[in-house]
Amino acid sequence: MTAPALTLRMHGRDNVAIVANDGGLAAGTALPGGPVLRERVPQGHKVALVDIAADAPVLRYGIPIGFAREDIAAGSWVHERRLQMPQARGLDDLPIATSRAEPLLPLQGYAFEGYRNADGSVGTRNILAITQTVQCVAGLTDLAVQRIKAELLPRYPNVDDVVALEHGYGCGVAIDAPDAEIPIRTLRHISLNPNFGGEVMVVSLGCEKLQPERLLPPGAIPLQDARGSAAAGLDVVCLQDDAHIGFMAMVEAIVRQAEEHLKRLDARRRETVPASELVVGVQCGGSDAFSGVTANPAVGFCTDLLVRAGASVLFSETTEVRDGIAQLTARAATPEVAQALIREMAWTDAYLKRGGVDRSANTTPGNKAGGLSNIVEKAMGSIVKSGSAPISGVLAPGEKLQTKGLTFAATPASDFICGTLQLAAGMNLHVFTTGRGTPYGLAAVPVIKVATRSALARRWHDLMDVNAGRIADGTATIEDVGWELFHLMLEVASGRKKTWAEHWKLHNALVLFNPAPVT
Ligand code: CA
Repeated sequence: MTAPALTLRMHGRDNVAIVANDGGLAAGTALPGGPVLRERVPQGHKVALVDIAADAPVLRYGIPIGFAREDIAAGSWVHERRLQMPQARGLDDLPIATSRAEPLLPLQGYAFEGYRNADGSVGTRNILAITQTVQCVAGLTDLAVQRIKAELLPRYPNVDDVVALEHGYGCGVAIDAPDAEIPIRTLRHISLNPNFGGEVMVVSLGCEKLQPERLLPPGAIPLQDARGSAAAGLDVVCLQDDAHIGFMAMVEAIVRQAEEHLKRLDARRRETVPASELVVGVQCGGSDAFSGVTANPAVGFCTDLLVRAGASVLFSETTEVRDGIAQLTARAATPEVAQALIREMAWTDAYLKRGGVDRSANTTPGNKAGGLSNIVEKAMGSIVKSGSAPISGVLAPGEKLQTKGLTFAATPASDFICGTLQLAAGMNLHVFTTGRGTPYGLAAVPVIKVATRSALARRWHDLMDVNAGRIADGTATIEDVGWELFHLMLEVASGRKKTWAEHWKLHNALVLFNPAPVT
C-alpha cells in the first residue's frame, strides 16, 4: 500500500510546500487539495502549489526565499536551479526592539542535580580539563591523559572524565593582531567552563607565543584565592623546564599534577539546583528541509520553556541568521541588544567579504540534496531554534556569558567552531539537530542530538537521542517533542541519563576560531 501524499506548508502565504513522504512522490501523484505532480519530487524538496511566473517570489515561511528564474507550473519541483537568491538585507533602517510579543509566563518547579562551582556556575559533569597553550604539547599530553585515565581515574570515581583541551593555536600566529583576542579568550573561557569545576591546570611548552600568563592572566580564574592556590600562581607544567630530564619526566609531572586536581574534584557531590542553572547551546548541522519543520521548531519551543524557567539559551551560527536580521533586531529586548546584533552581522559580512565570499558560501551539497535551495531558506529554518523570547544579550565570538535568558552568541555555523565557542560562553548542555545525520559529540558537555526525520532516527537508532521526525509523520506535535526534549535535558544534566554520544564516547575536536593571520 502506498502512503497518502503528505506535504508541509509553513505559512498561509507560501506558494510552495515540501514533500514529507519517505522516498518522495512520483509524477502524477495528486496532492490533497493541490495540484498533480508534473515530475518526481524527492523527500524534503519543494513543490509549486500554484503557477509561479518568472521573476515572481517563491514564498516559504511567508517570505521570499528566492525568485523564479523561469515560469514554474503548479505541481513542478522547485529546486535550487530554478531560484534566484534574494540580496542580503542591508543593515540600515532595521526595526529596533519593536516586537511587542506577550511576555512569556514563568515556569517554576523544575530542577536538576548539578555540581555547584565556587563562581556560582553549575556543572552537569565533573571533568578534569588539561589546558594546553600550544599544539606542540598535544601528543605528550595525550599520552599523559591515557595514563591518568588508566591509573588514576578508577581511584576517583566521582570524576567523570579527563579531557585534554587540544587545539591548533598558540604559536606561529600573529598574536598581537586585533582579532587574535578571539582564539585567546576562547581558550581562556573554555578552561573555565562550568563542567571543569574551577580546576585549571595548564601544560605549556615554554617558548610559545601564547604564554600561560597571557592565556590566563592574574584574576582570570575567579575565586582562585578562596581555594588558597593563588599564592602558588597558575598551575603550569612547562615541558622545557630544566627539571625534566627526558620524556618520562614530563609525562610524570603532568600525571602527578593532575592528581591534585582529581582529589578536589572527587570530593564534590551533585546537589539539587533550579533549572535556571542550565546554559544550553543550540545548533544544527547537516541540515535538510525538515530541520526547519520538525527539529528546529521543537528546539525553539523548548528554548521558550528554558527561558521561562529562568535558564540561559545560546543560539549562534551568524551566516544562518543573517537573512533573518530584521526579525532579530525587532526581537531585541533593548536598542543596545539590537545594535550589538547589527555589530556582529557587520563584522561577519566584512570577514566573509575579505575572503571573497558572502553568506551564500554556507550551504553544502548535502543541504541542497536535502531540499534546502539556498541560505535564505536554510536561515529561516535555522532561526526558529531561538523560539519566541526576547533576545536579552549578544556575545562576540569567544566571550563568556554573563546574563540569563536568550542570548545570540555570534559564531560561524561550522559545527566544531560553533560548539567550541559555545563551550567558551559557558554552555553546560548542548542540543544539536540534524537532518542528513552526523555523529557529532563534544568531550566537555553532553550533546543531545535531535533527528529531523524518522527515517534517520530509525537508521541511526543508537546515535539520535530524540526523533522530531514524528512531527512530520503526524504522530507528535512540536509541543510534544519540545517538552520531551526539556525533560530529557534535566535527566541528562543530572547525570541520570547519558546521551548516545557519551555512551559511545564520541567527540569532535575543539576548533578555535582564528580570524587573525597565521605567520
Ligand atoms: Ca552548525
